[in-house]
Amino acid sequence: MTEHIFVCPYNKEFLSRLKNRTVVVTTEDPGLIYQIQREVNKSNMLHAIKVSVGVLSEIRFQESWQNIPIAFYANEFGSYKNIQQQLHILRNLNSRIFLSDQSEFNFIALRILSSLRLSCGLHLTGKDCNWEMVNDLMHFTMYGRIRHAPIEPFDWIVSHYEPTGYTDFSFVYFNNPVKYLHINEKEQIALTEDDMRNNHFIAEDARSVDTIKENEEYQDFLNKRYEIMMQMTDCAFCPAFRVCLGKYKDLHDKNNKCKSFFSDLMEAADYAFSKKTHQWQL
Ligand code: SF4
Repeated sequence: MTEHIFVCPYNKEFLSRLKNRTVVVTTEDPGLIYQIQREVNKSNMLHAIKVSVGVLSEIRFQESWQNIPIAFYANEFGSYKNIQQQLHILRNLNSRIFLSDQSEFNFIALRILSSLRLSCGLHLTGKDCNWEMVNDLMHFTMYGRIRHAPIEPFDWIVSHYEPTGYTDFSFVYFNNPVKYLHINEKEQIALTEDDMRNNHFIAEDARSVDTIKENEEYQDFLNKRYEIMMQMTDCAFCPAFRVCLGKYKDLHDKNNKCKSFFSDLMEAADYAFSKKTHQWQL
C-alpha cells in the first residue's frame, strides 16, 4: 500500500469509494467542515480539510471545529474587527490560515495573525508578487525578536532544510506529488493542483495509486524534476535553486524578484541550520 495522500473534493459517495485512504478534502464552503469530518471518519483518515474562501473575516468560525485539522486559504484578510471578535474561537482551533501573496495588505495581516500566536502562512501562488514584502515578512519571522507564531512556508523550509540537497516547500500547500496526489470524482489522478486544473492526468483509477511508482509519468516526474538545472536558463545559474526549484522560471527579470528573495531565504535557512547543529568543541 502506498503512503500517498489524496487531495480531493467533497462528495459523500466518492469518499466512500476511496475506502481506507488518507485524504485532504477541499471545499469552498466553511459550512461543510463539520459534515466533512464526520463523513471522512466513516471510511477514511482525515489529513486535513482545505477551505478556500475569498475573504477570511467573512468566515463564521465555530467551536465545533475544534480538533479538526483545517487549512484556511483566503485571497484577502478582510475586516480585522470581525477576526478580533472571533479570536477566542480561532485560538482553540487546530487550523492554519494561509493568505494569498496577491494582496499587499495580507503581508501586514500575516504579521498580525502571527503576533496573535495564530498559525499562519503566505500562500505563494507562483505568480509575480511584491517580492520586497515577501522578503520583509520572511525577515520578520526568521529574525524577529518579538514572540510570534511560525509563518509558513518559511518555518517549514527551516525545519526541513537540506544544506547539501533540495528543499521543496510545496508540501506545505498539499501540492507535492512525492506525498500528495490530486484526484477528482471520476478518479482521474493528477500530479499537482495545476495539472488537475489543466486536465493533465497520469492515471484514471484510484486503485492505481498503489502501484503509482511504476507509472511512467510519475517516474518521469521523479527523474526530471531537477532537470531545469541542466538547461541554459536563469534558474540553472541561480544560487537559490535548491530552495526554489525553478518555481518562477517563467518570470521576466528575475534578479530583483524571485532570485533576490530566495537567496535571502536560503541564507536564513543556512543560518538557522548552523545554529541548530553548531556544537561546542574543545
Ligand atoms: S529563484 Fe527565480 S531564478 Fe532562482 S531558481 Fe527560482 S525561479 Fe529560477
